[in-house]
Amino acid sequence: MGRVDLLTVTQDRVDITDYKTGAEDPSHLDQLRLYALLWDLDRIANHERRPATELTAAYSSREITIPAPGDSQLRDLEENVRQRIAAAETELVASVPRALPSKQKCALCQVRHLCNAYWEQAPEAHTLSRGTWFDYQGVVGPQNGAHSWWLLSERTGQKTILLRAAATMRALLPSRRIRVLNLRLDDDPEVEAIVATLTAASEVFVLTDSKG
Ligand code: SF4
Repeated sequence: MGRVDLLTVTQDRVDITDYKTGAEDPSHLDQLRLYALLWDLDRIANHERRPATELTAAYSSREITIPAPGDSQLRDLEENVRQRIAAAETELVASVPRALPSKQKCALCQVRHLCNAYWEQAPEAHTLSRGTWFDYQGVVGPQNGAHSWWLLSERTGQKTILLRAAATMRALLPSRRIRVLNLRLDDDPEVEAIVATLTAASEVFVLTDSKG
């Protein structure tokens, strides 16, 4: 279903216009093509099956007008939409939602500490620059000082990050697997390793089984 802003039907033309308040975006033209398909399939409003002529995205400063899709393009679009609807319905009835990690979305996700798909592709600290906020999954190594610990690489078991905190962290026991959100990547010229700082924004989670 869709609701067009303006449908202009005259003796020899059918034009569809959509009014846009924001910036121009190619998806607006896709939306208009979808409206052309809905008009084509509408057996009540368009019982004569009249084809759309032109499609217009009307912005505050200008209009973009394109020819309406022809019949074969409409059939391709119809098939594409059917496939997308079928895929969406499959996702909706899945017992567990499928994770679709992306840098932009995962950075704001409230449940990323629970999402194994996220951790499989989370960037490693050595690929980031100083001052970056990042998330870490790995193993707690030996305590280094009153408020600092080594974090080990899960893959090699080597010390990879020197973690510093303002207070004693009881969760940081050696050999524990942990996930930490919102660590700040720092730099200390006296330390060769990567230095990360736990701040008030950081959260530490202890993993309790081998699958996380
Ligand atoms: S962290 Fe997982 S659940 Fe959250 S947005 Fe990323 S993929 Fe989706």
